[in-house]
Amino acid sequence: MYKKFLNDIYNFVFPPFCPCCGSKQQDDKIICDMCEGELTTAEKSDLKRHYNEYFVETGKIKKLFSLYIFVKDSPIQSLIHKLKYENKFRIGLQLGYMWARRFEGSEELTDLDYIIPVPLFHTKKAERGYNQSYYFALGIKKVLGIKIGLRMLKRRRATDTQTNLSKQQRIINVKGAFKVKNKRRLIGKKILLFDDVITTGSTVNECARVLSEAGVKSIIAGSIALA
Ligand SMILES: [Zn+2]
Repeated sequence: MYKKFLNDIYNFVFPPFCPCCGSKQQDDKIICDMCEGELTTAEKSDLKRHYNEYFVETGKIKKLFSLYIFVKDSPIQSLIHKLKYENKFRIGLQLGYMWARRFEGSEELTDLDYIIPVPLFHTKKAERGYNQSYYFALGIKKVLGIKIGLRMLKRRRATDTQTNLSKQQRIINVKGAFKVKNKRRLIGKKILLFDDVITTGSTVNECARVLSEAGVKSIIAGSIALA
């Protein structure tokens, strides 16, 4: 009875349907083999290259962990789109869970104090009803048991969409967009900062800058996809 209850909860959070194509899943996989085959995994070499290009210079991020490479018109784009605009917040849980399962055991993730989802501006959150990155954090918490640091980082203003901006324009666009709350709880802490897609890293770097200034000891960046 108790086991059945647990199983029901599990199926509620992780329904046995592939979030990409909706086909019924037989085993405990989340994305079906066919869709998985269409996704491009971010390999160690991709992560290293991206890290060297966008995070070495700023020096605030200790390590980068991303699951997939963002490819236009591929299942990863549709997953993120569904999550952001079609209220499919379970996809966030599923992707966060998959992220954590893949990187579980990495030394950098063993003694973290908080996962901080990159915040949305409050009007955007109201429009969408939720912050998708919060659901990634919930999925990660389920595997790694790290607390979610809510209301620790706030977005002070709305920022323009970064899609068509250059690296330099992106840095200017997000400058001063975040502020730290609950500073006392952050001093000396180790943080996992999480966003859906990391492109040039300007958002994550700006968050990391204000967190470091507030006394955070070390920051790991995570995302579902790398663009
Ligand atoms: Zn599928």
